[in-house]
Amino acid sequence: MDFLNGLDSDYIIILVFAYIFVAATVAKLGSTREVGGKKTLFYSLLLTPAYGLYYVYHSPAKDTLKIAHYRCPECGLEYTDGYSHCPNCKKEGKRVRLRKFYMRTY
Ligand SMILES: [Zn+2]
Repeated sequence: MDFLNGLDSDYIIILVFAYIFVAATVAKLGSTREVGGKKTLFYSLLLTPAYGLYYVYHSPAKDTLKIAHYRCPECGLEYTDGYSHCPNCKKEGKRVRLRKFYMRTY
């Protein structure tokens, strides 16, 4: 009986290691994605590697750049510099707050 119990705990240890190994493999995949390896590892360990894989699959590739743009709702001009108010409208004496948005570049 003791022998059997010993076998069971070994089996559990192997399962745990296999689980961590699979989670780490998924995390390695995640590191090439925008989600990142650490976050993927966290989700893989917590919510199974299958979920982690799903998470990686739906995350965009890392080489996509997120560039912040600022658009003026008044004149429609776009800026990439971090102005808080539209310089174009400022010339006309209006203080128009720019709206920040992100554009993806591949
Ligand atoms: Zn403007």
